[in-house]
Amino acid sequence: MAETDFDVIIIGSGPGGYVAAIRAAQLGLKTACVESRETLGGTCLNVGCIPSKALLHASELYEEAHSGMLAKWGVKTSGLELDLGAMHGTRLEAIKGLTGGIEFLFKKNKITWLKGHAKFTAKDAIEVAGTSYKAKNFVIATGSSVTPLPGVEVDHQRIVDSTSALELAKVPETMVVIGGGVIGLELGSVWRRLGAKVTVVEYLDQILPGMDGEVRKEAAKLFKKQGFALRTSTKVTGAKAGADSVTLTVEPAAGGASETIEAEVVLVSIGRRPNTEGLQLDKAGLAVNQRGQIETDHEFRTPVPGIWAIGDVIPGPMLAHKAEDEGIAVAENIAGLTGIVNHEVIPSVVYTMPEIAGVGLTEEDAKAAGHEVKTGKFPMMANSRAKTNREGDGFVKVIADARTDRVLGVWIIASVGGTMIAQAAQAMEFGATSEDIAYTCHAHPTHSEALKEAAMAVTGKPIHV
Ligand SMILES: Cc1cc2nc3c(=O)[nH]c(=O)nc-3n(C[C@H](O)[C@H](O)[C@H](O)COP(=O)(O)OP(=O)(O)OC[C@H]3O[C@@H](n4cnc5c(N)ncnc54)[C@H](O)[C@@H]3O)c2cc1C
Repeated sequence: MAETDFDVIIIGSGPGGYVAAIRAAQLGLKTACVESRETLGGTCLNVGCIPSKALLHASELYEEAHSGMLAKWGVKTSGLELDLGAMHGTRLEAIKGLTGGIEFLFKKNKITWLKGHAKFTAKDAIEVAGTSYKAKNFVIATGSSVTPLPGVEVDHQRIVDSTSALELAKVPETMVVIGGGVIGLELGSVWRRLGAKVTVVEYLDQILPGMDGEVRKEAAKLFKKQGFALRTSTKVTGAKAGADSVTLTVEPAAGGASETIEAEVVLVSIGRRPNTEGLQLDKAGLAVNQRGQIETDHEFRTPVPGIWAIGDVIPGPMLAHKAEDEGIAVAENIAGLTGIVNHEVIPSVVYTMPEIAGVGLTEEDAKAAGHEVKTGKFPMMANSRAKTNREGDGFVKVIADARTDRVLGVWIIASVGGTMIAQAAQAMEFGATSEDIAYTCHAHPTHSEALKEAAMAVTGKPIHV
């Protein structure tokens, strides 16, 4: 095989692409991965999951100390100061460590990193930095980027997107977040905890679209208690950035009189769109759907033989772990094995405090799908560990089919909901009933006991309420 010929070339090194590359190499395929960024790891490691979680962790520590919460535990602080530079330093260290780790894994697995932007020149060839490469299989894992909002131009100073919102050099006094979804609420939480007065403007009548109705209501209540101003059913129609502030024009989503809101910084976080620009998909005989995504079958094959696609660039939730699982599956399918992803059981988590997590169907979707449902709810306030830790906000909700008792969905608002949801996902993957969860022994005292009790509540028999 010529040096520029491969069994598989993966385009993009995000959690979809780098995982696919490692699995393909493990399976003995001659593998290359193209990445145009300076570092591997994609959105997730460079400007997404990891840096946002670094700032969420840091800001949570600051808020705990600053708000006097630590003093309740007998931990007295004095002379407390915010060192935003150090906070950013630790964020950058996390990125460097993890992206370097992927580079190490590439070397260990003998994966060739083709540095530059890939474009198709034919069904079986791409060009990267002026060199042509051929492969028996291509995996498009080019991910997604920020969706722009017409009339609100991101300048990365006063009007920021999720990337520049991670890098603010100063805590703004006021911040407006456009979009009450996961990313807006997480980054809004960071800057609120550090001292900004944050207003979230959401077009829909509730925040957190796609999540269970009761969870959305409870989350809104908790965010308001934390000091967020929530302006739902409101549409942003324009923005004017001045030297010190931005003037936003908003109006009711249903139409009506417009008004203005001033903010030192505005964060645009209305969603993400698939990256296909510049790929020259037409040269490969591929087209995108109406939403700009590349469609695949259940095995991640596009309509063009030998070209596969995974991650944010294909339909489905834009989540790193979904991309990773698809990365493993696609490599196994290319190697002639059977790679499967169960898209019915993909957990999603909002890493605010408390965390908000869900897997499977919402109660509304379960009913719309024709299920007669039974639900069980258990408040975190009645969980001994959460109560002791002063983390009593939230609840666990188990949704089961009334006829078969099979668990259809689990929704959690709890300080460690993101960790707790893994158990629910595994139970659902194994086809568990609510009774299966209820009769599984859970360690005491743990937050996870709340999931057991919510499962017990499906049949009306929790112990601690
Ligand atoms: C602020 C923020 C926070 C997030 N937090 C979470 C979280 O907590 N949990 C979670 O599950 N998800 C989170 N996400 C979403 C997550 O980052 C994405 O779902 C995930 O990164 C998608 O992986 P991917 O491999 O499909 O693509 P990406 O990670 O987007 O990677 C694609 C890569 O392909 C490269 N590329 C694109 N086109 C080309 C080309 N033609 N040639 C060469 N290279 C190319 C890009 O440079 C990029 O590095 C977050 C996103 C953001 C923005």
